[in-house]
Amino acid sequence: MQDPRLKEFMKEFTLSDSQLKEVYNRFGNEIRKGLNKDTHAKADTKCFITYVQDLPNGDERGKFLALDLGGTNFRVLLVTLKGHHDATIVSNTYPIPQEILVGTGEQLFDHIAKCLDDFVKAQQVGESYLPLGFTFSFPCVQLGLKKSMLVRWTKGFQCSNTENEDVGRLLKEAIARRGNTEIEVLALLNDTTGTLMSCAHRNANCRIGLIVGTGCNACYVENVDCVDLLEPELKRTKKKVIINVEWGAFGDSGLLEFVRTDYDRIVDKMSPNIGQQLYEKMISGMYLGELVRLALHKATKENLMFLRSANKNKILEVLNKEVGCFKTEMLSRIEADTFPDFTNTKNILKELFGSEKVNIEDCQKLRFMCECVAQRAANLVAVGLAGLVNRINEPNVVIGVDGSVYKHHPKFDAYMRVTMRKFVTPGIKFDIMLSEDGSGRGAALVAAVASRQK
Ligand code: ADP
Ligand code: MG
Repeated sequence: MQDPRLKEFMKEFTLSDSQLKEVYNRFGNEIRKGLNKDTHAKADTKCFITYVQDLPNGDERGKFLALDLGGTNFRVLLVTLKGHHDATIVSNTYPIPQEILVGTGEQLFDHIAKCLDDFVKAQQVGESYLPLGFTFSFPCVQLGLKKSMLVRWTKGFQCSNTENEDVGRLLKEAIARRGNTEIEVLALLNDTTGTLMSCAHRNANCRIGLIVGTGCNACYVENVDCVDLLEPELKRTKKKVIINVEWGAFGDSGLLEFVRTDYDRIVDKMSPNIGQQLYEKMISGMYLGELVRLALHKATKENLMFLRSANKNKILEVLNKEVGCFKTEMLSRIEADTFPDFTNTKNILKELFGSEKVNIEDCQKLRFMCECVAQRAANLVAVGLAGLVNRINEPNVVIGVDGSVYKHHPKFDAYMRVTMRKFVTPGIKFDIMLSEDGSGRGAALVAAVASRQK
């Protein structure tokens, strides 16, 4: 992409190494604040205790139910752990109607219990005792493995009468109302913990779980001595505990203003959780497409794009009016395009604007814009990960990752690794592995470890 004016226009998305270094420093500071009892309340990254203190050893066995709620799909899973690091999973996805997303908590949990009931009947396990792990991926203060108080909704959910409530109890009561007496809720976790557990099941060096999907968050294995708020008796018996960083909220106190753009501010203003999850809003799937839409609209208005298009007014109108028209999945398709034909990009421009004739230069420019937005996201994830890897400070640290953005974007992994290499302490080796169904297998593993101790 040769156009110097567009380069200048997109410059605010390009973070310099010194800006990234500053983000890295601020992030490390927030982690320390989150773990310390005196500063915890003021920290952006709350570093919640998960109460998961054992990683799997691969020998876990048995049948478990898992629920996965926390973004685009709601799933019910039946996980059979078979020992020898092996598991089989059957699952079903259930839509959550929009009116339930923004209805009451009771409606939401009754809906969940109904789907669960349908599932166990369909799988013909309705009569057997089944421990259940619930992957609930919203910020929660955990008071025990089964007790988890919702702090606030994110990612488009907004159910009334649920904030500050115990999600474990809400689920248990809804299951009881439905009459499924053989299902026991044993553990609540979020998708990052599920991902870490699921990857640790296959690779003993896994210490970090990362999600880049609808939202973005990470968890990691911390020494109990560094976790002020953990009950003393839990520090005596075990050396480690998984910490749910809730890093999506990094920046909520203003620490990222020096890198945020006007586009980020508009994305935030249009969301139901204004002023919250500001790091997440620069990174995750729910927002990347919108960032491109907003930048593309402005670039078009300023005559940096579609200069020769007969369709320019239509393009401006679509970009202005159709919030969400530019899907995050389109960033992946565009970056996967091959030179010089730009088949995907041309198709996307046709889909969006009905343009018949597409100019190759516009394709190149749009691709450049997508790269800037995705690269910024990957760089921000990378400095957070480097911060965690350096805290863990073991010779080999494996990071387990889940989420459609990481999985499907053709360059996200490569962008992340380049920046991680700049920030990870020399001498520490890191690797990134893709999680296999962390929310399902991981929930079963947490439940399995819990039932072993029971
Ligand atoms: P969740 O986080 O809800 O469990 P996913 O991990 O599937 O679900 O992430 C969903 C998000 O990923 C959505 O915001 C969607 O825009 C984005 N997404 C889906 N497909 C792709 C893709 N091919 N490339 C990049 N992002 C994608
Ligand atoms: Mg998920």
